[in-house]
Amino acid sequence: MAQQQPLPDETDVLVVGAGIIGTSTAFRLASETDRDVTLVDRDNVAAGATGDSSAILRQQYYGNELYAEMARRGRELYETFEEETGEPLATADSPLVGFLKNGTESAARFERGADVIREMGLSASTYDRAELEARYPMFEFPEEVDYAVSDDEAAYSDGTDAASGFARAAQDAGATLVTGVAVESIATEDGVVVGAETDAGRIDCDDVVLAAGRWSGQIAETVGVDLPILPSREQILLLQPPEDVTQEELETIPTTGSGGFDWDVHWYFRPDFGGKIYMGTHQRSEFVDPDDYDRDPDEEMVLNAVEFLSEVVPRLADAKIIGQFCGVYANTPDNEFIIDQVGPDGCYALVGAGHAFKHGPVIGQLAKDLVVDGESDLFDLDEFRLDRFDGKPTDEIYAESL
Ligand SMILES: Cc1cc2nc3c(=O)[nH]c(=O)nc-3n(C[C@H](O)[C@H](O)[C@H](O)COP(=O)(O)OP(=O)(O)OC[C@H]3O[C@@H](n4cnc5c(N)ncnc54)[C@H](O)[C@@H]3O)c2cc1C
Repeated sequence: MAQQQPLPDETDVLVVGAGIIGTSTAFRLASETDRDVTLVDRDNVAAGATGDSSAILRQQYYGNELYAEMARRGRELYETFEEETGEPLATADSPLVGFLKNGTESAARFERGADVIREMGLSASTYDRAELEARYPMFEFPEEVDYAVSDDEAAYSDGTDAASGFARAAQDAGATLVTGVAVESIATEDGVVVGAETDAGRIDCDDVVLAAGRWSGQIAETVGVDLPILPSREQILLLQPPEDVTQEELETIPTTGSGGFDWDVHWYFRPDFGGKIYMGTHQRSEFVDPDDYDRDPDEEMVLNAVEFLSEVVPRLADAKIIGQFCGVYANTPDNEFIIDQVGPDGCYALVGAGHAFKHGPVIGQLAKDLVVDGESDLFDLDEFRLDRFDGKPTDEIYAESL
């Protein structure tokens, strides 16, 4: 764990929130600029969505070229994490596979995504029904599955390890890390940021970067900025496969979901470190208060998950549930990121929209560019502006899921 330090009286850039986005931003600013950086978290490193994340690193973005390209860059940055930060980070390859039925919207989305991946020079495979049994021997495929499309270079990692690594690397590069201190409001003079009030006193600063995930809206409100963040509860199970399932067999299980299986709940699952299976919902439909939500999965959902897994991978029917919790996505109405200067000069917001672990290292680079130059050569920041919501409903999800 990174070492904690006291809150300084002043800093150049105050980064609020030590999830993957705040820690990667603090690392970039501290290691690539001469700004003095303070990273503050009301709790601890990775206390929010990052610590709960499935940490899947896919490039498959269902035809969205921008997010696929950013995901590819994120994947590369995770691959070179240790080289760049000096901190170890485990990643494991795990192709992301959609089992699909001909002619469905789900199949069309996967194929659009595979086309984009191939155009980017990455590997995407298509397997016909005859190939599925040999390739995925643990699966029982129902009639409706005709074929599969695979994002071959997908992987997964670990949110807490990645954010802790970035936090320590930021400290090594001169940043101050303060945990257990909550930012309550942003202080301005004549429309310019001059500091922030925290529950441990005031800190003066030139810039505030809001990377507080589902809580960023509460802080933005103190300078009259409405960040449309719709926190949704997602349910997670960690499973220990039965003893007779070998490591070799487990390695044949890809990262996949219930999409192609005509199932009522959107479950996805992937292998996890240590021979376990990680299983989660991707629903974006149960909106909750960022702090006040049920942290235990619903009994009926647990039963639904077990039933699904038993049907699709019967050998996992007797897997033991060894962990369960609920995490919260910080959705935006269109599921796309907010990376923008908002409200007073010197105030920035970074919102990952419930799918930004893979992009976290890239958002850190973009945020550094935004704070220092107001723009970035890496990606066009206009895509992530807050004012795209002007005149549109911001209290519901109105786009297809990314
Ligand atoms: C269950 C789940 C599974 C997911 N799976 C994937 C996946 O497979 N792949 C993927 O790419 N993405 C995934 N995501 C999304 C991804 O994890 C998030 O987009 C990303 O972690 C968000 O990081 P963040 O830094 O913006 O926010 P967070 O990680 O939420 O961090 C915000 C931090 O701000 C702190 N904070 C809050 N208020 C204050 C305050 N007032 N003052 C100071 N600090 C404050 C919190 O304590 C917290 O540590 C998943 C998310 C969840 C919940």
